[in-house]
Amino acid sequence: MKLILLGPPGSGKGTQAQILQEKFGLSKISTGDILRNAVANETPLGLKAKPYMEKGELVPDELILQILKERLHEIKDRPGFVLDGVPRNLNQGKILEKMLKELHITLTGVVEIEVPLPVIIDRLTLRRSCEKCGSVYTLKSDPSSHPTACSRCGGKLIHRSDDTIPVIEKRLKIYQAETLPLIRFYKEKGLLIQINGSLPIPKVAEILHDCLKVKGRN
Ligand code: AMP
Repeated sequence: MKLILLGPPGSGKGTQAQILQEKFGLSKISTGDILRNAVANETPLGLKAKPYMEKGELVPDELILQILKERLHEIKDRPGFVLDGVPRNLNQGKILEKMLKELHITLTGVVEIEVPLPVIIDRLTLRRSCEKCGSVYTLKSDPSSHPTACSRCGGKLIHRSDDTIPVIEKRLKIYQAETLPLIRFYKEKGLLIQINGSLPIPKVAEILHDCLKVKGRN
């Protein structure tokens, strides 16, 4: 299974990508995770990407396409993969198409996780991520019940600096302008699978699994 996951920030792409990775043994390529790691380690890539990420803007295509090329090369012989957060615009989508063709890889499908705006804002302002393994948590309204450490690896839970209201608004605007045309591109190719992402996480995973089965993609 070779999948792309698309959806606005806060749609649960990362969470569903992780579930697909565990359930089907897929290799996951998350450009957001790769970039956050690079920023934390102050690598040359991280230093270049940081100012864009802090402002909620897209990192230049050439940096993203270089990451994608390297990772696809590493995983090309594995049974399947899921791309989380990439491609993010039409240019990345078209170049990815060429890269896949050269590697003789055919996409199974492109999943768009749809979530209404108020749900996105709620989720992102309450989202905390593990600094170490990237696991995502949504805080409840009662602060005394807030976890302080990741239940998977014990890492520190942090509020991402791009999960603040002004940056979220910018990321959503960019999603509308840059990523929606990409969704139309995949729809025209008959690859698009649309999923309601406002349901609870296990339900979304179940519906996604069923869609992949119905389409004969599992
Ligand atoms: P994400 O975790 O997918 O929401 O990504 C966090 C940030 O990383 C984004 O707001 C962008 O600044 C950057 N980023 C991640 N993936 C891409 C991509 N495919 N193209 C450009 N920028 C990206």
